[in-house]
Amino acid sequence: MWPSISNASTGSDGLKGYNLILLDDDDCHVHAFIYADSWKSLADKIDEGCVCVITNFYTKKATGSLKPVSSPILINISHSTTVEKVEEDDFMIPRHKFEFVDLGDLFGIATANTNIEYPEFSTDVIGVLEDYEGLAKIKTVHGDRNIVRFRLTDGRHSPRVTVWGPLAVATDTAYKACAARPFIIIMASVKMKTFLDYVQINTVPSTKIYLNLDNEVVSAMRQRLDEEGYVPSERTLSSTSSAAVIPPPIIETITLKQLSEKTKSEFLKSMFLCKVKVKNIEESENWWYDCCHRSNCNEEVSKVEGKFRCFKCHRNYPIPQKRYRIAVLAEDETEAFSMVLLDRAVKRIVGKTATKLIAERIDNQATLTDYPDELKAINGKDLSFKIELNENNILLKSAVYTVTNAFDSEITASSKSEATNSDVEVTGFINNKDGDDVQNDGTTPDTAKKSSEEQSTRSGKRVEVLEAVAAAAVVVEVEVDEPLAFDMVEEEH
Ligand SMILES: [Zn+2]
Repeated sequence: MWPSISNASTGSDGLKGYNLILLDDDDCHVHAFIYADSWKSLADKIDEGCVCVITNFYTKKATGSLKPVSSPILINISHSTTVEKVEEDDFMIPRHKFEFVDLGDLFGIATANTNIEYPEFSTDVIGVLEDYEGLAKIKTVHGDRNIVRFRLTDGRHSPRVTVWGPLAVATDTAYKACAARPFIIIMASVKMKTFLDYVQINTVPSTKIYLNLDNEVVSAMRQRLDEEGYVPSERTLSSTSSAAVIPPPIIETITLKQLSEKTKSEFLKSMFLCKVKVKNIEESENWWYDCCHRSNCNEEVSKVEGKFRCFKCHRNYPIPQKRYRIAVLAEDETEAFSMVLLDRAVKRIVGKTATKLIAERIDNQATLTDYPDELKAINGKDLSFKIELNENNILLKSAVYTVTNAFDSEITASSKSEATNSDVEVTGFINNKDGDDVQNDGTTPDTAKKSSEEQSTRSGKRVEVLEAVAAAAVVVEVEVDEPLAFDMVEEEH
């Protein structure tokens, strides 16, 4: 969460609105914006890290610069939106999501930016903090500014970093308080600039800094550094999670035989529920894979020259994301088919993430090639599988199905009465004030512009309830951007 502060000193507190990053149970993250007047009624309800059910919002195309996430849409939370806090912790939603760029790729990405001062996206990076220079004051056109400088390294590349303003002070305090070395630093949403042939990293209002975050990616980074001879490995594990009962989405339940008859092209990407018994689990296959970090990309990444590359997105990652993927034989009274269970389905059945299961097995000295008992236990279970029909099912009439989610069959049967809730069209709310623009601050100068196309896409069709969490625990607060020569922004308190 971070505020957008008005550049003009109009006498008010200058708050234009609040920005959130929402993360759901499929590791998909979206930028959301709340206007200052709506924020007043929501400020007490939303904290970083809380789980909320947000209903009746509208979405628009994410435009502007320094977008904090790669999602193509932006959620607008208005007066008509309800935000309900969910008290229990839901293990389905991770606490953090980053879209790390490999430090070796920074220069290429930075030089490809068409607008150097306002790149389209901000960037997430991870590395070891080196060459720390303590808090300093420098003179700028805006007066004295606090800064902290250091290098971020992965052992191969070491770009320079400057942290500005209050974030510099907070970083310095965190640095002094932190004991475990080396410092693994995660910088989410930073801005890159190139000077000559090197990259300079700067902080912006949306930047968050995490030092030695208790997270799997930090463990994985330590492991990588250790493997490459940088430092001894220190492993940290994520906190334990508890299972939660979540009602399934409302989709037509059909038999496997009926499923196999859905081969018309209109059924492509259609979803159905099938009540099945799991008859066999393919234990010879790997039960997890290294996955691309991008939202909505489930591609496997390949290790190329020490980096993990997604050939679909053409991006490299320093650390891959681990996701489940297991093959089973499932049957009902009509048919039996092979099915591939994707991450969300397995996570739902097992009650923990793939990263956590892998971490536990390393901890217990079990080898990763042994098939985990947690997964073997799926055999013989009666479950409802949510199946999405893909090109192979339609074009090749393939009878290998992809399972995107799984539920207890009893829960599904009892919730049938709610079947009207899912695709109901609800009259779009009209609120011209909220509709006029979404976000117009220094980080996204273009968002106020709107076209007639955008007007029409905004008409509020009710979106399926989003179980969302504002990602991340507060580590370090930030308010101001680096000074720019032509930038007339006053430094905010
Ligand atoms: Zn990808």
